Amino acid sequence: MVQAKQQVGLCQSCFHLSAEPLCNICRHPQRDSLTLCVVADSRDVIALEKTREYIGKYHVLGGTISPMDGIGPEQLNIQSLVTRVGTQQITEVIIAISPTIEGETTTLYLGRLLKPLTKVTRIAFGLPMGGDLEYADEVTLARALEGRREFD
Ligand SMILES: [Zn+2]
Repeated sequence: MVQAKQQVGLCQSCFHLSAEPLCNICRHPQRDSLTLCVVADSRDVIALEKTREYIGKYHVLGGTISPMDGIGPEQLNIQSLVTRVGTQQITEVIIAISPTIEGETTTLYLGRLLKPLTKVTRIAFGLPMGGDLEYADEVTLARALEGRREFD
């Protein structure tokens, strides 16, 4: 029997890849800790960091909601996100998830879940449906971040 997968090498706060209990971004004293950017994957954190536009912190879900693959909200780092938003006086949650079918499902789910708690925005993708955030170039991503819109 294979042992359950442990979250070794992940930041305890945001679940980004990290050798330390808290990643470089979470430990950074100059980052805005009241803004959270929610992404599916650590690769998306790396892509967004390349833009140098974003100074807040992140929350890595570890995937997207995909009922076909048996991935529901419970399999993702969503409960910890709700806890962070509820206890850290987060003033804005920016959802930056690739606009695939699973990504949209996840974005809508999170929007509904978090809207009663704080301001929720989603980045404005200039990407076609199915476009992948991690392959977007820096200028496109920076523009998408800048053009984020409040959830309705
Ligand atoms: Zn972190």
